[in-house]
Amino acid sequence: MYPALQSLKSRFAEIDDLRRAASVLHWDMSTHMPQDGTISRGRMIATVEKAAHEKLIEPGVAGLLEETAALPDAILSADDRAFLRLARRQFLRASKIPSGFKAEFFQHMAETYEVWIHARKLNDFNAVAPFLEKTISYSRALSDFFNTGETAWTHPMDPHIEDADPGMTTAGLETLFADLRRDLVPLVRELSSRGRPRTDFLSRAYPKSRQVEFLNWLARNIGYDFNRGRQDLTHHPFMTKLGAGDVRITTRINETNLCDGIFSTIHESGHAFYELGLSPSLDGTILGHGTSAGIHESQSRLWENQVGRSREFWTYFYPHLQTCFPEALGDVSLEEFYCGINCVEPSLIRTEADEVTYNLHVMIRFDIESQLLDGSLQVKDLPVAWSDRYEADLGVRPSSDAQGCLQDVHWYYGGVGGMFQGYTIGNLFSAQCFEAALEAHPEIPEAMMQGNFSTLHSWLKENIYQYGSSLFPQELIHHVTGHDLSSKPFVAYLKRKYL
Ligand code: ZN
Repeated sequence: MYPALQSLKSRFAEIDDLRRAASVLHWDMSTHMPQDGTISRGRMIATVEKAAHEKLIEPGVAGLLEETAALPDAILSADDRAFLRLARRQFLRASKIPSGFKAEFFQHMAETYEVWIHARKLNDFNAVAPFLEKTISYSRALSDFFNTGETAWTHPMDPHIEDADPGMTTAGLETLFADLRRDLVPLVRELSSRGRPRTDFLSRAYPKSRQVEFLNWLARNIGYDFNRGRQDLTHHPFMTKLGAGDVRITTRINETNLCDGIFSTIHESGHAFYELGLSPSLDGTILGHGTSAGIHESQSRLWENQVGRSREFWTYFYPHLQTCFPEALGDVSLEEFYCGINCVEPSLIRTEADEVTYNLHVMIRFDIESQLLDGSLQVKDLPVAWSDRYEADLGVRPSSDAQGCLQDVHWYYGGVGGMFQGYTIGNLFSAQCFEAALEAHPEIPEAMMQGNFSTLHSWLKENIYQYGSSLFPQELIHHVTGHDLSSKPFVAYLKRKYL
């Protein structure tokens, strides 16, 4: 073994440990921590993250990267080559940002978040507008740090996208999204003109304790391993990986909204399957994580929508659900339930959107953040631009900013740019993936009707999960489908299901 490579690996393993330690703090904060612990916990997380960042940009790392760059590819294993590529990328990106900038930006984010909470409650966009302007300046400054050498860009949103979804660009996604929008807008119009299915039963009384019991049972029965994870309650569900044997999910219970818990559990299980299915050789290394935000989202959406909203899935699970909630579902047939959970309706709120309209919400935000960053849209004009676009794409117009441009936390606790594309990349790739899985194993739907997911799990593990971050997103997409990311399989899936 080459000493420089060995030291580089140990350093990056320590960096990865620090990041996981921050994840434990974050998991605890979002599940069990007493509410008054926020301030000290925020500080602890920032300290651990700073330590990880400092370890990453140490001058010693640059030296080791230089030494290992001299090793000929032919003598390295595939895992080593992938490790070096990712290590270089992480170092290069982290070292472009001046020390102190991140801390200042985080401080600003924390202040903005507080203001946004009140602004949204009071429907007062003007209160948060100056903060948003400053966020855009910070985000723009961040873009500028990258506009040199091999990270030079053509649009200021490029480095933000590159950060979350390596290899993708603003221009490339604009073309892809334009295709998708062209298909979706008329499809949504057509579907909304049809009769609305019955959905009254979804908001009946669903007691918390019975929901928790059902959701744990559901997670287990779709293949989530409770020896290597656990499920807890939270406000905004998420999955977190603390190690190969500790991948946790969270869900949310709403006693008068059955779908909330069910689809959160299936969605987060999908994220967890990805992390649990990585090759054991990648454990504890920086390759031991899903490869990007968009690819991760494709795996959660595949389970949530392609699997979890299918008729086959509920053919098996619905009788169990009915037994759990006989008062609420006794008079509801499987077909009514299936149509109810797949009701398509243009709405104002992204997080409540169905799978057909969802991407329109995302693409509106994608275009707006691109315009805010390149200066073609001013913050003062944001509320009107937002409402106009909702009217054009979804045929609905928000009557307040709280239901419009103040609804999502992303720009008010984060940067502007690169925040949203991952959701749509995920939806598109989930359809490509599922299509490829069905082509290889046409018996998958039949097996789902028996509550059997083993073939699907094995296919996903073999074709996607095992690689972790060894393949970058576009390499993985090519590897799985033989094509680039495309909107066609997704649109075909929607048309097949809904028309
Ligand atoms: Zn997700």
